[in-house]
Amino acid sequence: MKKIILFLPLLLFAAHVFVLHRIDDIRYPSTSTSSKKLESYIIYLKKHGYKFFTVSEITQHLNDSKAVAFSIDDSYKSFYQNGLKVFKKYKIPFTLFVYVKATNQKWGDFVGWKELKKIQKYGELGIHSYAHPHLCKLNNKEIINDTKKAINIFKKHMGYVPKLYAYPYGEYDDRVKKIINSFFKIIVNQNPGALDSTTKINDIDRFALVGKSNFLQKLKTKKLHAKIDVIQKNGEITEIKGEVFDKIPFINLYITGFGVKKINLKNNHFSFKPHFKLKKYRNRVIISYNNKIISKMIIKGGQNARSF
Ligand SMILES: [Zn+2]
Repeated sequence: MKKIILFLPLLLFAAHVFVLHRIDDIRYPSTSTSSKKLESYIIYLKKHGYKFFTVSEITQHLNDSKAVAFSIDDSYKSFYQNGLKVFKKYKIPFTLFVYVKATNQKWGDFVGWKELKKIQKYGELGIHSYAHPHLCKLNNKEIINDTKKAINIFKKHMGYVPKLYAYPYGEYDDRVKKIINSFFKIIVNQNPGALDSTTKINDIDRFALVGKSNFLQKLKTKKLHAKIDVIQKNGEITEIKGEVFDKIPFINLYITGFGVKKINLKNNHFSFKPHFKLKKYRNRVIISYNNKIISKMIIKGGQNARSF
C-alpha cells in the first residue's frame, strides 16, 4: 500500500524526451524525420505552452508535464544540414549524441569536429560510444575501452568531457548499464516512455520521432509504474511477471514478434508464461494501460535491462 500512496500524486505529471536520427534523408525513411514535421511539432509545442530543455536540464524538470527535450543520435550530416536551422529558428535547445569514430574519421554521412563546434553553440553534446558497438555482445573490458576511447578523443577535439551518454541501438542490460554509469551520470535509452519524478537519470526513456510517428499520442503518454521481470531460457521468454503500482484493472503486454496480450492483475501483480522464442536480437516488452506505458529492452539471451 505504501508504494501506491507514494505514487498517486505523481500520476498527472510527465515530461517527455524525443529522439531523432536523420533529417530529410529520403534514403532512410525509417530513421529519418522531415524538417517540416519537426517544425510542426515545435510550433504545436510552443502554441500549447511547452518548455524546451536539453536532456541534462530536463533531469531537473521530470515532474513538469510541459517539459520536453529533443535529442539527436549519431551526429549525421543531415541534422547539421536540415535540422539545426529549425532549432535555431525557434531558439529550441537540443542534445546531440556524437558517434565519435564516424565523426573522427570524417565518414561521409557524418559531421566532423568543426561542425560539432558550430552545433554546440545551440545545444549540448553527449557521447554515443566510439565504435557504435552492440554493447551487450562485448565483455566488460571491451565496453570500458570503447567508452574511454570515445571520451578521450572527444576531449582532445572539444576540450571537455560530456556529461551524457546514449546507448548505440538503445541496447543495454544491467551489466552494460553499470559500466556506462561509472563514466556518465546521465544515460538515455530508446525505450518508449514518459518521465516523472520516479525516473532515474541513468535510465531515461525516449520516444523516437522517426518515420510515421504519432507525435500527439506520444506527448499524451504518462509513465506507468511497474516492476517488470523477464525470465529467459535459451532465447525463449518463459515468464514475464511483475507488480503494478498504479491503480489499474489490467495491463496490455506487448512483446516484439509476439503481439499484445491483455492480462488481468491480481492484487497488483501479474504473471504471463508465453514460452515465446525471441526471433530478434533486440526486443521490447511494453506494458500499457490507456495512455500510460513502461517498456523494457530485452536482448535475446541477455540479462534484465532494468528491475524497475
Ligand atoms: Zn546510433
